[in-house]
Amino acid sequence: MPRLAIAMFMHEGNAFSPVRATAAQFRADCWREGPAVAEHYRGTRTEMGAAVDFVAAHPDWDSTFLTCAECGPCGPLEDACFDAILGEIVAGLKSRRWDAVYLALHGAMMSVREPAADLAILRAVRGAIGSARLGVSFDLHANLGPPELRLFDLACVYKTHPHVDQYDTGAKTLALLARCVAGAIRPVGALVKVPAILPSANMRTTDGPMAETLAIAQELERREGLLDISVAGGFAYGDSPFAGASVMVHADGDPKLAERAANDVAAALTARVPRFYVSLPGPEEGIARALKAPPGPVAVLENADNPGSGGIGDTTGLFRALVGARPDAPCVFAFFCDPDLAERARQAGVGARIEARLGGRIAPGFGPPVEFSGLVERLTDGRYRNTGPMGQGAWNALGPTCVLADGKLRIVVTSSCQSPNDPGFFQLHGIDVTRQRLVCVKAKNHFRAGFRPLIATMIDVDTPGPASIDQRNLPFRHAPAHLRRA
Ligand SMILES: [Zn+2]
Repeated sequence: MPRLAIAMFMHEGNAFSPVRATAAQFRADCWREGPAVAEHYRGTRTEMGAAVDFVAAHPDWDSTFLTCAECGPCGPLEDACFDAILGEIVAGLKSRRWDAVYLALHGAMMSVREPAADLAILRAVRGAIGSARLGVSFDLHANLGPPELRLFDLACVYKTHPHVDQYDTGAKTLALLARCVAGAIRPVGALVKVPAILPSANMRTTDGPMAETLAIAQELERREGLLDISVAGGFAYGDSPFAGASVMVHADGDPKLAERAANDVAAALTARVPRFYVSLPGPEEGIARALKAPPGPVAVLENADNPGSGGIGDTTGLFRALVGARPDAPCVFAFFCDPDLAERARQAGVGARIEARLGGRIAPGFGPPVEFSGLVERLTDGRYRNTGPMGQGAWNALGPTCVLADGKLRIVVTSSCQSPNDPGFFQLHGIDVTRQRLVCVKAKNHFRAGFRPLIATMIDVDTPGPASIDQRNLPFRHAPAHLRRA
């Protein structure tokens, strides 16, 4: 009876965000072990959803859920939090002998001490499990490091952005791991770095340079009978010594084939590097373009403060432009993260008038707060379930939230910082996006997965913020200088 351990430690670290990831944040999102993991993820289109199904489909395996922890992107993890979660995983792994270990990582985690935190995790895990087979799954935005390759037996990266294949990536990693344990395959890996830190604004896998590279990779994988070809675009704001894109290939017993395929796909991606550096309009121009678009809802996406990229739900560039344009039409702004304001609105009650300073609270350097006066329109407990294709079925907890209204403008204020990437976010707040003229969001590509059927036109804008597309303004410390775009 093969003994399988399953663990997860996922976080995307933005080196330029002033907000550290804490133990409290992980507890609020997910920090569980044992049957509580299966309870939390059963039926979700996530890596752990796939692990739950794998366990159910393999009653002949002795499977155990060790610590599984994740929280939304923000700044680096506090060291004590990193040590506590990794300590639990390592203790669980050391508690007995395993034949196989499945580990779900992001690949662009940073702690205050460890700029390449995933490498530190992999070293600790390998140290704990000896020669047990280790299969790892990564986010497409992983900053993969060559030293990581020697620490696992095989690994797979998401093939989609927006990430609608989290479940499939977990399922594939587990399936390969099972074949590996059975001795049916002998995975050998190759990893080639692409010399560029790529912004993700044009990294969608539905069209453009990433989609083309993945098509080449998939064709090669099929033709050569490779176990997996993964293309990791990297996370531009993860300031790691392994910053930048990479191609990772696993072949069955043929290291030369893996290396050749990795080099071929890396060359295809390298040739397309210039096309990732798009320029975006500023917020005033973005709003003006949106208002000139044909009738119907238009989304304006403030990429630089997208929580999915480590945004803080606090910058005011887009909001100031929206208020300045004063559109005479229903508009929604989602969102500002301000737990104190959400609490003040709760105390004031629905229908009460409220004065507030919106944004510019955590990092006024990205733009000062904007004065606001309006009514409390709605209060919620911040809990909703994803109905869109990304992480479908998974629960979100925004903490107490409110909707503030001033004429035709409505603003969502939350108590935790999460991208409004699922239609459930707006349903919770009683807002029908199809009846809005402008849907201004702190979001990026992932927003498209859930909203493309509802909103025909989407305009990305660049503003000052921790995930600004302009890398020249960002104070990198660890990423190799020659990879940054000057
Ligand atoms: Zn990602």
